[in-house]
Amino acid sequence: MECNAKWEGGACDRDAWAKGLCSGHYQQQRRGQDYAPLRKAGDNTLEMIGVRITREDKQVLESEAQRRGVDDSEVYREAISRYAARLRKELDGR
Ligand SMILES: [Zn+2]
Repeated sequence: MECNAKWEGGACDRDAWAKGLCSGHYQQQRRGQDYAPLRKAGDNTLEMIGVRITREDKQVLESEAQRRGVDDSEVYREAISRYAARLRKELDGR
């Protein structure tokens, strides 16, 4: 059985591990997070970028990080990752 996790622009293709979810998405659910793509093995190299964002966006993302009790960078990374997933989907559809 496959993991049931879905997010904007994608779905998980890992095998289910508990409650219809793979271990990574089971952990996201337990932490009260929205489902987000998991990094594939061997695809976990992170690149460093610097971007300027509005103060309003920064405040929204930082308060989300605070709510979840995670580092700000984790939420920034997720936001960009979701947008990239959406773009990939749009490009695939052309
Ligand atoms: Zn999954």
